[in-house]
Amino acid sequence: MKITDIKTFLMQVGSRPGMPAGAGSFRGSRNWLFLKVETDEGVYGIGECSGWPRVIERAVQDLASILIGEDPRDIDRLWHRLYVGTMGHGITGTVGGGALTGIEMALWDIKGKVLGQPVWNLLGGKFRDTIPVYGHAKSPERARELMERGYSAVKVGFTGGVDLDLVAAIRETVGSEADVMVDAHGPSWMTPADAIAVGRELEKLDLLFYEDPVAPENLDALERVRDAVDIPLAAGERVSTIWGIRPYVERDLVDVIQPDTGRAGGLTQMRKMAAMAESHYITMAPHSGSLGPVAEFAALHVMATIPNVLMLERVEIDWQGRYEVVTPVLKAENGALPVPDAPGLGVELVEEEIEKYPSQRNVADMPDNENAYEPGTFGECVYFQPRLRRRSRLRLKRSDEA
Ligand SMILES: [Mg+2]
Repeated sequence: MKITDIKTFLMQVGSRPGMPAGAGSFRGSRNWLFLKVETDEGVYGIGECSGWPRVIERAVQDLASILIGEDPRDIDRLWHRLYVGTMGHGITGTVGGGALTGIEMALWDIKGKVLGQPVWNLLGGKFRDTIPVYGHAKSPERARELMERGYSAVKVGFTGGVDLDLVAAIRETVGSEADVMVDAHGPSWMTPADAIAVGRELEKLDLLFYEDPVAPENLDALERVRDAVDIPLAAGERVSTIWGIRPYVERDLVDVIQPDTGRAGGLTQMRKMAAMAESHYITMAPHSGSLGPVAEFAALHVMATIPNVLMLERVEIDWQGRYEVVTPVLKAENGALPVPDAPGLGVELVEEEIEKYPSQRNVADMPDNENAYEPGTFGECVYFQPRLRRRSRLRLKRSDEA
């Protein structure tokens, strides 16, 4: 069996042709990149890449020359050849990781189809038949709705600034039996001192984890938070490969690693990361908020096979196109997704639906407040700003204790 071609399918998410920029979820900035690895025996595999899809599409096309003519079943050997193929381009980070991920995912899909087995059965077999998922809430009402849908965990994101009162209100709404998490999104606008002040307030709310309290470039800053705050920490969505996640695990900087299923480096890389974490009694909750449905299938296969799984992130309910571009469509029941049983990954692309959403743009809008881009304000959106420009976004105390 030989690889004959790799096709890519890039699409705009949360937006349709003719829709104004900024419409839809993620302000219209999301793209999904799917790919199909074809063989001379008619069997093909599909995969998904995240990390910067419009850029990764070119990386995949570049790497294709390494794969054409190779046996797709030699997954680990081909992964190493692809990794060497990126070396001359420097430290390629999540872009290289995204390209390798989508290709490796497709090779597993091929192997599963050839052997007539779901991918989880080739990775060591199942620990579980369903994978718990969590949703996102920006209000107590939304948190209640998720509970009514059967979810038992919700995450609050600090996007427009720190809102400790909102976290407290959501904890109150869901009760002590459910889990609440906070994602600070690794903001450069929260210094380690700010993140510690916020963390100390969050200690009172019994969180499952406090995610990306500081920006990801400087792990000494994360260590400072780690040492000062008595609360489980989570991080790792922006790194790829075992070497990217290594310091988080080896330095015990987090309690939960969060590799992104579309850019971690592939399913085997994720299993290796999980094993590294297991040796430190660290759990894994893959990042998945912006990913498409193929990566979600892949995450379920990996998560079925590792012991230290916590939960999978899920945008519930996502933009309608999510439910049109693949088949079958996954549906969460009682806060969990079923582990697929069909050979391979168990998911197929609906190419004619994907074609309806050509990629338009792939960078996020800056905050849409009136002051956007005004120098000297938070809306100027420079990466790091002094407190006097960030002040309105930082309320470091809950109001009932101020
Ligand atoms: Mg996050």
